Amino acid sequence: MVNVLLNSKSEETVRQQVTILGATGTIGLQTLEVIALHPERFSVFALTANANVQSLFELCIRYAPQYAVMLQTTSAESLRAQLKAAGSSTIVLQGEKALSEVASHEQVDVVMAAIVGAAGLHPAMAAARAGKRILLANKETLVMAGNLFMQAVIEGGATLLPIDSEHNAIFQVMPSQHSQNLVNSNLASMGVKRILLTASGGPFRNASLQELQMVTRAQALNHPNWVMGPKITIDSATMMNKGLEVIEAHWLFNAHPSQIDVVIHPQSVIHSMVEYIDGSVLAQLGNPDMRTPIAYGLGYPDRLTSGVSSLDLLKTARLDFSEPDMIRFPCLQIAYDALNAGGTAPAILNAANEVAVEAFLTEKIGFMDISEIIQSVLAASNIERVTSIEQLVAVDEISRQAAFQRVNVLC
Ligand code: NDP
Repeated sequence: MVNVLLNSKSEETVRQQVTILGATGTIGLQTLEVIALHPERFSVFALTANANVQSLFELCIRYAPQYAVMLQTTSAESLRAQLKAAGSSTIVLQGEKALSEVASHEQVDVVMAAIVGAAGLHPAMAAARAGKRILLANKETLVMAGNLFMQAVIEGGATLLPIDSEHNAIFQVMPSQHSQNLVNSNLASMGVKRILLTASGGPFRNASLQELQMVTRAQALNHPNWVMGPKITIDSATMMNKGLEVIEAHWLFNAHPSQIDVVIHPQSVIHSMVEYIDGSVLAQLGNPDMRTPIAYGLGYPDRLTSGVSSLDLLKTARLDFSEPDMIRFPCLQIAYDALNAGGTAPAILNAANEVAVEAFLTEKIGFMDISEIIQSVLAASNIERVTSIEQLVAVDEISRQAAFQRVNVLC
């Protein structure tokens, strides 16, 4: 099978054509749920996955995309055979290059970037360079390559809409000048004093250091408020997720690290806040359900129904806030430090974190080893100025190797 895309314009010119990168994941599936509520507005152009043939097959039958992409060759062959047997006309492509092709194809209007981890970088960059409307869930793209990605968004004429619930909330309460001038927006001149990123605190919010040493995989995967993929769920438990979000907020809102504060808010009803110099604090509230930010991104600037139930404030009854504990959750401090160090430090952090989380998920290391591994990889690395994506890919690979070595010492 040759990875060639058809260029013929079909009758699908009125509806927006959507590519969903990471369609079989929790964000991908919720995106499809929202799209299914608005068949008059959206049509699915391409769906992608790593290796989950069964799930992508079912989605292709239901949504009939023009293309399906699987990263793994054997998975692509299997999907192709199954779709052919089912009489589907979806064309199956394979490999990394095909992910970027369906993200930048001329027929595509909207790209949901919901691949997990560094694997999402290249297709997100391709969508940015091609000037698409990008719904960015893959925070690792900004952590690894924030500067280069934001430049690509500007140069490609893309529209960038944050999907992470916190950043989506901030985007909603930022002055409108911000969205018109992403990279050069000046928070102070817009009257913004600081950004308050809320954090649920995860399942171990009240756990002691001693208890954290004993945390199991099953306990860490049991997030109190959100249903998410395994990697981000572990990131939430270590609070690295909040650290990645601090870095993400830095790039999205041109915010200095000292302008970004984290507040523990266990109910996850306030999704984040912006404080203005006059003392006003604007917040976005809602039930913790990713279909709200997804619908916001799909409809922007219109509002679309999302299937999310109304927030019942009387039932919620109380909203609590507290300070994050950097001793019990060192990953958050490590992320602030990496952001302040700048250059390739966040890319090193991201790579080490991905390796450490995978090692924890496969029960090779303990919960508190995750931060130890990231810290030691960062301490042993040379931090360089970021010059290119190729450099970042090389840094990512070297940092992974260093993290693997540290895992081997610990397990
Ligand atoms: P999931 O693990 O549920 O899904 C990941 C998706 O990416 C799957 O479709 C998977 O395919 C695909 N994928 C995995 N590895 C690769 C690869 N190497 N190449 C191509 N595709 C790959 O993740 P989530 O949906 O939870 O998260 C996706 C992104 O969104 C993450 O960056 C996360 O941080 C971010 N995010 C998620 C939120 C949530 O509520 N889930 C909230 C905010 C942000 P397959 O099924 O075949 O493995």
